[in-house]
Amino acid sequence: MKIDGLIFDFGFTLFEFRNASIETYFECFRKGLRKSIEKLKETNILNNEEIIKQFSKLFKKKRTQYFKQSLKTKKEFPTSNVFELVLDELNLEKVNREIYFELADLYHSYEEKEWVPFKNTKDTLEKLSNFKNLKMAVLSNHPHHMTIINLLKKYDLMEFFNVVVTSAEFGKRKPDPDIFLYTLKKMGLEKPETCMVCGDEHADIVGGDRAGLQTILCKRMLRFPFEREINVPNYIKVNDISEILNHIH
Ligand SMILES: [Mg+2]
Repeated sequence: MKIDGLIFDFGFTLFEFRNASIETYFECFRKGLRKSIEKLKETNILNNEEIIKQFSKLFKKKRTQYFKQSLKTKKEFPTSNVFELVLDELNLEKVNREIYFELADLYHSYEEKEWVPFKNTKDTLEKLSNFKNLKMAVLSNHPHHMTIINLLKKYDLMEFFNVVVTSAEFGKRKPDPDIFLYTLKKMGLEKPETCMVCGDEHADIVGGDRAGLQTILCKRMLRFPFEREINVPNYIKVNDISEILNHIH
């Protein structure tokens, strides 16, 4: 079918997480938090063992709490805000906004090492970029915008996209239809029915459908815990990103 815009999900659509497991994922954040704490020690904001313990405990608690809440409310709570809130609650010295973003960069730095593009991602994007008048975007539910930007740059994929939107930047998460409509607006496209979203899960397909876009599911080998059923009629399913070329002309 002929389309004007193609919106890709990031995780498990364009990129895969190496050795994906809950354990690897948590290990990345444990190491990341240690780096953020090192930074806070350097700047003398955390200056004794007791306060480091309190900070670490409260950060983990808040991060989990906001993550669960974000799944329920579809509102994103960016990692930089969690750092700000935790420092605030412990009555620690205020730092400037750049530092909160730097702390979030460090927190996500180990996660960043594990995301790699799927084997056929670049080749598929290259082929799609030859289509006339087709605009492409990345739309990711992620609490730190720079992680997605850094990864697209790291693997030379940034050039393919007109727009990169994250829930951290927009404030709401997929499947909220507003984030899809916001992405289309940024792409300079007005008609959702002439656009398509390609993703690996409920949030992409159901959200895209609610926003009036065409949808294509890139089936993932790995099952997530608490996977939600996709209750949308007639969406296209493919087993590999390269197969979407069979559905776009
Ligand atoms: Mg995904």
